[in-house]
Amino acid sequence: MIVKSDAVVLQTRRFRESSKIVTFYTREFGKLGAVARGVLQPKNRYGSVLQPMAHLAVLIYRKEGRDLHNLSTAESIERYGVLNSSLERMSAGLSIMEIVNATMHDEDRNDELFDLIVAALRMLNDPEAGPGGVQLWFHVRLASILGYAIAAEQCGVCGEAFDVTLASLPFNLAIGAPLCSEHRESMAYRPVNNGSFAVLRRLLVVEANEAAREMVGIAETTELGDLLTSFIRYHVDGIRKLKARGVAAKVLDGGPART
Ligand SMILES: [Zn+2]
Repeated sequence: MIVKSDAVVLQTRRFRESSKIVTFYTREFGKLGAVARGVLQPKNRYGSVLQPMAHLAVLIYRKEGRDLHNLSTAESIERYGVLNSSLERMSAGLSIMEIVNATMHDEDRNDELFDLIVAALRMLNDPEAGPGGVQLWFHVRLASILGYAIAAEQCGVCGEAFDVTLASLPFNLAIGAPLCSEHRESMAYRPVNNGSFAVLRRLLVVEANEAAREMVGIAETTELGDLLTSFIRYHVDGIRKLKARGVAAKVLDGGPART
């Protein structure tokens, strides 16, 4: 059956001489893999649009029960020129594609997630927006869509208020919340510095465009990015090492990629 959907390209890889296997996140079917035959041949009409982060209208021959389908056509819906001309923006975007690919199962439709991915790409394409803020905002929202919402206003065990003036706040990855002075005695936690924690609390209440404009070049991006990927990895089974995170760290810090 031929099906039609809006889609975002999460990943592509070469397949045989002149084809690609493309992993899409589609509005209609969720994550879905398709073979794009002959797209690496010169003059192929679809080859140039099948790049990670491309937002496309696709026609796919879909067979029930198959892991891999066949791409028929692909056409650009929206082009992100600003995003694709900045390494920092591309790193943030690719890490978003990678975490979606790593956390979602095939053919599990989620309209909210599709809209979230497109919103993040549009923000990354806004010259006024800081890519670090967009990336953090996306991770917080993705955690919530996956069913692991983060809380930051009270102790995750007893609901008591905690001391927000501490230099470092204890954050429990299993609960996705900070701990009060009593519960930090008996439970595992990861210390998060005060500034990063304030940014996290803000991320929980702002829209993407506010996060993108407020959080430009802030020092907390790295620590919070690590905390949020650790949090999502903690909760999602079989999640792979997030390579793009390492690439982004390398590009942004000029240091060795971390894994
Ligand atoms: Zn408590």
